[in-house]
This record gives sequence, C-alpha cells and structure tokens, in this order.
Amino acid sequence: MNPKPFYPSHVSWSVHWEKIQHSDIHHILLSGCNSVRDFATLLSPVAGLQLEELAKRSHTLTRQHFGKTIHLFVPLYLSNECICSCTYCGFSFLNQVPRKTLTYDEVMSEAQYLLGQGFRHILLVAGEHRHALPLPFLKKIVGALRPHLASLSIETTPYQTLEYQELADAGVDGVVLYQETYDPKRYEEVHLGGPKKNYLKRLEFPENAARGHVRRLGMGILLGLSDWRQDAMALYEHIIYMRKKYWQLNFTASFPRLRKCASHFEIPYPVSDRDMTQLICAFRIAFPDLGLVLSTREPPSLRNGLMQLGVTHLSAGSSTEPGGYQLQTSAEEQFAIEDHRKAPEVAAYIAQQGLEPVWKDWDSNLH
Ligand code: SF4
Repeated sequence: MNPKPFYPSHVSWSVHWEKIQHSDIHHILLSGCNSVRDFATLLSPVAGLQLEELAKRSHTLTRQHFGKTIHLFVPLYLSNECICSCTYCGFSFLNQVPRKTLTYDEVMSEAQYLLGQGFRHILLVAGEHRHALPLPFLKKIVGALRPHLASLSIETTPYQTLEYQELADAGVDGVVLYQETYDPKRYEEVHLGGPKKNYLKRLEFPENAARGHVRRLGMGILLGLSDWRQDAMALYEHIIYMRKKYWQLNFTASFPRLRKCASHFEIPYPVSDRDMTQLICAFRIAFPDLGLVLSTREPPSLRNGLMQLGVTHLSAGSSTEPGGYQLQTSAEEQFAIEDHRKAPEVAAYIAQQGLEPVWKDWDSNLH
C-alpha cells in the first residue's frame, strides 16, 4: 500500500515517441501492454499510423471482457450555480447567464421522464456550490431516486471522505471526478478562482470517494486543454495508482473533448477524431477490463464507430442544462452537445449493430 498521495511523474515522452518503430507496436499488440513505456508507445504518433491494427486489438479485448453490450446512462443536471471560474465551462461564476437549481419536485419530474425513456442509471450533475445544493438536499434526492434505479452516480462538488460515506449510505454508488488536465501550469491558467483552483486538492479527491466506499469511480481528462498525449500518460499513472490502492473499486475513464459554451473558450489543443480513436484503443489495450465512457459531446458518426472499438458506456438523449428534459427553464447549458438522438433511437442503433443496449447492469441487493 502506497501511503503517499498521487502525484504525476511529469516525464516528457517526446524523445521516446521519436524513437518508436512499427515493430515496437507489433510487439505490444502480440504480448500486451505491460508497462508505462508500452502505454507511451501505444500513444505515439507512429502508433497513430497503425490505427487499424490498434482498433482490431481493442475491439477483440472489449468483446472478450464486456461481451456484446453497451451500458446506457443519462445525466440529470440539478444546478448550474457555481462558485468556480473555469474558463472552459458555461457554468463559470464569471459568466452572466441564467442560473437555476431544481427544486425537489422538479428533480422528481425530470427523473420520471428519464425513467420513462428506459434509463436505470442516472448521473446527477451540478456545479460547485454547496449553498445552492446542500449535502442534506442531495442526500434526500438520492434517497428518493435510488429505489427506482440500478445505479446512481454523482458529478458534483467534491466532498470529504465522511461526506462520500454519507452519500454512499444514502444510495450513491458512483462518483465522477475528472482532473481535467494534469499539467499544473495549464491547470492554473484555466482555473481562475474557486475551490477547484487547487490542483493538489483536486488530485486527492478521487481517494476521498474511494475511501467513502462508493462502488464505481470515473476518472478523466478534458481533451483540448493541454497536450493530449502527455495528459493521457498522467491519467494512466493515476489509474494504475488508484487500482493498486483501491483494488475493490470499479473504475471507468472518460475523455470528453471541449465543446462550445457560454465562456467562448478557444480550444488551444484541438484533438482530432483520429487522435480520440487512438486514445481509446490505447486505454483499452492497456486496461482490458476498464469501462470507457463516451458522452453526447461527440457527433453520432464517431459514437457509432467507437461503440465497436472500445467504448462500453454511452450517455444518450442528454441535456446539459438544469430542467432541460421537461421543464423548459431556459437555464444555461454547461456545453453544447453533438449527438441529439433520443435514447430509444440510440438503443435501436446499438441493437442494429448486433450489440445489446444495457439499461441496468447491477443490482444492489446488499445495499
Ligand atoms: S467545470 Fe465544474 S467547477 Fe468549473 S465552472 Fe464548470 S461546473 Fe463549475
């Protein structure tokens, strides 16, 4: 057991990437990704030229470990109030936008609609604002929704370990916490104010959730903020660290790309569809049993392709504004989505591809 909190090595891999040969990639595809060096090789520009071979291996491993299934979930935005000023986010404190926190009855109405669509896994999302969304209120919502769901996750302000424990007791089984970027300099440039500004604290929060006994932990990077290869290397190190220390947890990884939002943020490091595909294949080859999540930020064509190559969890029919399903509140959205298909349409497409859309993959009999 490692007593030290995680800190990325910040090794620069550019020299290693220049030396990669095609034969190095073939070797990993045959014998597996067994080290941080192997993972770096899979992320190299040379490996990007062998994307078809990476994709084949990634597809095979995904089917071996997850069968022909795609897990469906949906975000339910509770509040867009936030005391942080993240320059890339529509909810930033600095943006003069319509704000809204749903009432208890409004949350239930939104949830009723999503249950009617077939969802049994809901992700509750909110900005960082403990007064707008106090912990007791969140626990009340969780307690009311839990009996109707197989899985209930949160992506909200980060909490202390005991608070996560309370949320887990109330019925939360998953927590999503992205570092956004592991580059401390870039992190400081884009997180201008509020608690999220603290890079080191942010690094520690996943451990709070793990110690709070949630069942599933979602980690990730926001693509476009910094060099995607270097950020992916740090995320790999972080996942290795967390899986070693909290082996009993179920982990997922996600790589959302920056989208348009009220902040009018110019994307400094654009990531192409091809880069995104390489990234997903590399993570699949490195972690054959890791859940890989793709949201409706991505266009339908890319989502349709990636569900065959490595992605295991898809959000569908999403709205990123509080009250966006039923209530017509005109509150600001967090970011623009690209896949506007309704959930039944996405499920039908998945089935047409010979895969099974899974609305419920776990039962909390012992809860
Ligand atoms: S990314 Fe999260 S913490 Fe930052 S402004 Fe948006 S909602 Fe707030």
